Amino acid sequence: MKKLIALLFVCLLLCGCSAQATVYHMNTVMTLDLQGRDAENALEAVDDLLMGLEKTWSATRSGSVLSALNSGADVSLTEEQAALLARVEELSERTGGAFDHTLLALSQAWGFGTEDQAVPSPDAIAAALAEDRIDLGGALKGYAGQEAAELLDTMRIDRALLNLGGNIQTYGEKKDGTPWNVGIQNPDGGDFLGVISVTGTASIVTSGDYQRYFEKDGEYYHHILDPKTGYPAESGLRSVTVICRDGLTADALSTALFVMGLEDASKFWQESEDFEAVFVTDDGTIYATEGAALTGCEFEVITR
Ligand code: AMP
Ligand code: MG
Repeated sequence: MKKLIALLFVCLLLCGCSAQATVYHMNTVMTLDLQGRDAENALEAVDDLLMGLEKTWSATRSGSVLSALNSGADVSLTEEQAALLARVEELSERTGGAFDHTLLALSQAWGFGTEDQAVPSPDAIAAALAEDRIDLGGALKGYAGQEAAELLDTMRIDRALLNLGGNIQTYGEKKDGTPWNVGIQNPDGGDFLGVISVTGTASIVTSGDYQRYFEKDGEYYHHILDPKTGYPAESGLRSVTVICRDGLTADALSTALFVMGLEDASKFWQESEDFEAVFVTDDGTIYATEGAALTGCEFEVITR
């Protein structure tokens, strides 16, 4: 089995009730930490799930379902695959296109994280924007977290903490009954800015300009693209963290709210009921919607 996996260690306590691993999927390091009678099997099942999602939805892997779709081939999708694409389209509509799953050509033109990363010419940007090949990079890790949580629900697992490249998926309640605590990264590095507390199963997903970027001629270009301009979004934000029960929604919205900027994102939240968010602006101010359980820092509260 071609596994892009580095199992650092699987630690089984008596009766096999705890298992951890560090794995590599979707171009990122992921850590899985599970507790419950089925921990060992569930760890393998989650790893297989992540690998399967990557094999299906990778835009760059030849042979993936998405590559076939993008090449215009007549692909018969499973019900689940069709449902994911339909939900992604809905999220694109819901965000007025700020989350745009059809930006593959544009992302490739910029080439973030590849040897070819470079500022494309205006013509190349216009040509890329005219294409509609699909890239789920802005939402797949959140979806993966949610799918993993649903899988764990079918097994004897008490709790789990999955860190899918910085996207956090919690499952179940902590043993001592206290909430899960998730740190907000400082975009400039160093200590966490603050801590978000969540109970039960939830996705906590961050989009930040520090996650993937390059510098050219003193300018700084990051990977979250404004579908209106084709350039990295200059929205006044450094990061957006979305807390949501649904992982796909959390991930798509983190990207979309980053593109929207604080004002439009706040209005979007006021009109929504399914998520909370924390924003870090260019000047380092932190804003949190009133239901986000943020502690450990000073912040402005966004109210309804
Ligand atoms: P995220 O880190 O979840 O914000 O996703 C960023 C990734 O999603 C990028 O690396 C691109 O592959 C893709 N992407 C960039 N801009 C957008 C956008 N406006 N809408 C949807 N996907 C995007
Ligand atoms: Mg996202």
